[in-house]
Amino acid sequence: MPLEIITVPCLSDNYAFLVHDPQSGKTAVVDAPEAGPIKAELSQRGWELSEIWLTHHHDDHIDGVPELLAAYSATVVGAKADVHRLPKLDRAVSDGDSFTFGGEVVHILDVSGHTIGHIALHLPETAALFTADSLMALGCGRLFEGTPAQMFASLQKTTAMPDETTVYSGHEYTASNAVFASMVDPENPALISRILDITAKRKNSQPTVPSSLQLERATNPFLRAHDPAIQAHLNMVGAAPVDVFTEIRARKDRF
Ligand code: ZN
Ligand code: FE
Repeated sequence: MPLEIITVPCLSDNYAFLVHDPQSGKTAVVDAPEAGPIKAELSQRGWELSEIWLTHHHDDHIDGVPELLAAYSATVVGAKADVHRLPKLDRAVSDGDSFTFGGEVVHILDVSGHTIGHIALHLPETAALFTADSLMALGCGRLFEGTPAQMFASLQKTTAMPDETTVYSGHEYTASNAVFASMVDPENPALISRILDITAKRKNSQPTVPSSLQLERATNPFLRAHDPAIQAHLNMVGAAPVDVFTEIRARKDRF
């Protein structure tokens, strides 16, 4: 039986995700911005929380952990590199590590850039990729700790993943990301049609997360630094993709 994944809106624009294995009855949550909505979703479904997977140390991804641990005996998983600034970990993981959850393999990728030690979790069987504030819908996280080259390398780790991979990112920033993307890549028909879809969804207060890797590859400027039209628009024809990425990230910071 495939895993079930539920999006849980938290705070003003964060997302947590429940990953449920019907076979074993286990449920993990990816990030814990606040406990209330996560507990409500769990109890409504009659699920117990078994694991908490943390992507990075920022408050809006970990603040709900103590209250969740008070209600459930859950295993906390997070980056070894961040043990000093994450809630107490039961399992500290690094790039290339994997563990099993309900009979499925979960791969850990270091996707530093937004922070050093930010991880993504990849479940190839379910084709799910939890990216939080690394690869985001139509964007990528702001570089608080890492360099543009680090974020570029982190995003490159998705290169070999199939188009059908579903991308679960950490925030509802897509509408403002779309305004920026359309300035960098104004003629891209896939982007133009995605923006229509985003506008319609937000008008009805629907989430634009998750998305797919196929859609991100077609429309997200941060995955398109190699694209001739974007390079031409930035006057960077023939430049190395990492340099084009750096320029796009710098423009987004000023945006
Ligand atoms: Zn963050
Ligand atoms: Fe965040």
